[in-house]
Amino acid sequence: DYMQLFNQLDRLIKRPNKEPFRVLIVDDQELLAEHYAAVLRHANIQVETLNSSGELLKIIAHFKPELILMDIYMPHVSGTEAASVIRQHQELIGIPIIFITAENDTDKIQLMALQDGDDLLQKPIKDNQLITTVKLRAERARTLNTLMFRDGLTGLLNHSTLKSRLETEIERSHRLNKPLSFVMMDLDHFKEVNDSHGHSTGDKVLKGLARMLDDRLRKSDQIGRYGGEEFGVILPDTNQIAATVIIDEIREQFAALAYSSDDINFHCSFSAGIAQLENNDNTDTLINRADEMLYLAKSSGRNKVVHSH
Ligand code: GH3
Ligand code: MG
Ligand code: MG
Repeated sequence: DYMQLFNQLDRLIKRPNKEPFRVLIVDDQELLAEHYAAVLRHANIQVETLNSSGELLKIIAHFKPELILMDIYMPHVSGTEAASVIRQHQELIGIPIIFITAENDTDKIQLMALQDGDDLLQKPIKDNQLITTVKLRAERARTLNTLMFRDGLTGLLNHSTLKSRLETEIERSHRLNKPLSFVMMDLDHFKEVNDSHGHSTGDKVLKGLARMLDDRLRKSDQIGRYGGEEFGVILPDTNQIAATVIIDEIREQFAALAYSSDDINFHCSFSAGIAQLENNDNTDTLINRADEMLYLAKSSGRNKVVHSH
């Protein structure tokens, strides 16, 4: 019984989000930045340091910090100015910024810092205070981000997040001239599953498929719950032929699973439509094509993967 096994394993493993926090330190005093970094690394936190705010946005895009420690006094661009630049980017709104101030900063500067920052630490900072503040803030940011960007049932990206990620990935693929495929999946006759075995059994099937997708796809792929029993998958650097191979493999595995509910065995399958990014595509045209292919998969018998052309 796959479902029972899955639930047991889920309980045993509990899969807490154990990835170390990622923290970016911006301080023009190199030695001090390195000291803070060493203290945090010792507490199992991943750290990058930056000694001016010049490359700030580039590093943020690349390192994806979950929290930024920002010195207020820096030559050229101050910490408060850098923070207001960060806050102009909507996708960075969830990153807490903790300012570090020297004792001689005036009240006015400290007040300014709190406009775009979330906290203020006064130098010299005790090691324990640094670790505790960073961990608490990062943990809370992680929780809030999960609530904002993920679907409660499956833990996959929610509808609006998947769409905005798709937009970003499309831009990137156009720019680098790389292929990209988008997959639209929909469970077959799912209403029957609910009707015959109950809504909570249906929920478990949805969670099981989400888990399978998460396990089988690459970390760079993005998986979302597009709607009720519909899933969307972004496969960067993947043409539709390669995408079809992997999704068809998952389709076969998923359809082979035997579920049981009240001693009645049943199977479940999904249909998928795949579209590959073309030069004049935007988010909507790409999604529409995948949707059309999904419709073809459904109308030609279900439990199928269909790609365009
Ligand atoms: P088709 O093969 O054509 O897709 O048939 P279908 O029955 O899957 O499609 P239909 O759109 O008629 O029904 C979708 C069903 O999915 C109905 C709805 O109750 C169920 N569903 C949607 N969201 C959830 C959910 O979160 N949990 C459960 N258990 N069921 C859901
Ligand atoms: Mg549907
Ligand atoms: Mg369906």
